[in-house]
Amino acid sequence: VKRAIHWFRRDLRVADNTSLSEAVQRAEEVVPVFIIEEALRTGPDVGAARLAFLFKSLEVLRENLATLGYPLVVRRGRSIDLLPKLCQELGVEAVFANRRYEPYAQARDNRLFNELNALGVGFEVFKDAVAWEEREILTRTGNPFTVFTPYAKVWRTKTPAPPRPGIPKVRRAIQEFRSDSRPLDPGEFGYSPKQSIPPAGEAAALAILKSFLAGPVFSYATQRDIPAESGTSKLSPHLRCGTIGIRTIYAALREAQAGSRPEQQRNCDVWLNELIWREFYLQILDNFPHVMKGAFRPEYDNLEWGGSDEWFQAWCSGMTGYPIVDAAMRCLNSTGWMHNRLRMIVAMFLTKDLLISWRRGERYFMQQLVDGDMAANNGGWQWSAGTGTDAAPYFRIFNPMSQGEKFDPSGAFVRRWVPELESLPDVTIHQPWNASPGTVPGNYPKRAVIHEEQRPKCLAMFKAVKPPSVAR
Ligand SMILES: Cc1cc2nc3c(=O)[nH]c(=O)nc-3n(C[C@H](O)[C@H](O)[C@H](O)COP(=O)(O)OP(=O)(O)OC[C@H]3O[C@@H](n4cnc5c(N)ncnc54)[C@H](O)[C@@H]3O)c2cc1C
Repeated sequence: VKRAIHWFRRDLRVADNTSLSEAVQRAEEVVPVFIIEEALRTGPDVGAARLAFLFKSLEVLRENLATLGYPLVVRRGRSIDLLPKLCQELGVEAVFANRRYEPYAQARDNRLFNELNALGVGFEVFKDAVAWEEREILTRTGNPFTVFTPYAKVWRTKTPAPPRPGIPKVRRAIQEFRSDSRPLDPGEFGYSPKQSIPPAGEAAALAILKSFLAGPVFSYATQRDIPAESGTSKLSPHLRCGTIGIRTIYAALREAQAGSRPEQQRNCDVWLNELIWREFYLQILDNFPHVMKGAFRPEYDNLEWGGSDEWFQAWCSGMTGYPIVDAAMRCLNSTGWMHNRLRMIVAMFLTKDLLISWRRGERYFMQQLVDGDMAANNGGWQWSAGTGTDAAPYFRIFNPMSQGEKFDPSGAFVRRWVPELESLPDVTIHQPWNASPGTVPGNYPKRAVIHEEQRPKCLAMFKAVKPPSVAR
């Protein structure tokens, strides 16, 4: 191939990038391209934090590519329209990209494959974001797994590929093609970022991985559930944008594990389990694309959610009167990130206490999260709501008070985000309605609902759903 495009999507890095390294090996000249999709302006699931992180990552990528002699071409519009034209304008023979797993992205790639082929341009996609794709880990009968534990068991019997080698500097200067302006600020797209964004780009991601594997990973099993501690890696926005390669992570984890004591190895194993959850939900999305449109178990699309808009607003703004829920939502609104334990607590609370559809929470999360990812978010919401593949059964309902007491025993996390409750003693910090009269300031709301009263209503709501009748 004389000239090829590497189309960057969710792989904004130079190192350990399958498609980019294939393109560089197989084409005499590679033009790196990023398309700022129109959907970023109009999509209902887009948010300021994620856009800001994406634009920052793109800027770092442009600098890294420039150092190696590759000028990044940025174009704005719809890839489905732009890419065929760009191929003709640049005179390329092939387009290389890393595979995406969202149903809409797959449909677009299939269309592009046909359109580019009709122009005589090849379009090749590569496995890159996961160790194992949707047909690579199957049950004995050849079906996809819908339960995590047996899936993870098989996953662990296989060894992921090593990282791909980095690309060398260009030997001959590459022609510079026209590039549209790069947006540096989501404000240009009509979003006003409220959140401060974590450091973006490849070097930042590698630094996070290195420092996490040098210490915190060895106590991950005990620290990962305490929101007031930073016991988790915070790599999720980087995995979302692809500013770090998954093979790089697996190799570095194996190395850290090799030199560690048995107890430390066990902690590393617990972290690996979380990375496997990520792959589990990606294969669910790919094998069961209907989860994007509704419940994995379709009978649960008939649930009659009874919660009010007012309660939804209270949940979004961290004003439900339940301190651990409010602290978590305020943290999300101002940082774009939320601890996994808290994601489960607020998702259960929205669906099982406020009786509001998980789909509203799912969308709100996508709009706020810096790491908003269709597969993990949908999986996490359906798990919490009890409508999903490997879901908590619907009758398992978190009690927000005991969750708070167990995972934030000193109330440190609540005090950080709900300053109104700062002076409450530990015994009532998670249930201010039991505090001594006059100690809870008037600007902290009363409980929107009473947990003990909502529980039977939730159980009745689920029981009322009958499995779909068989068509005759
Ligand atoms: C309701 C709900 C919504 C969620 N939405 C998202 C989302 O939009 N994007 C997202 O990346 N994660 C989501 N998660 C999963 C999880 O909460 C985050 O991945 C995690 O909190 C990110 O923090 P970390 O990078 O410090 O994780 P670590 O604990 O360090 O884990 C390492 C990596 O493993 C992956 N991972 C960890 N837990 C899970 C999980 N339960 N499911 C899938 N992958 C996991 C992530 O890529 C994470 O970066 C959601 C969970 C729930 C319950």
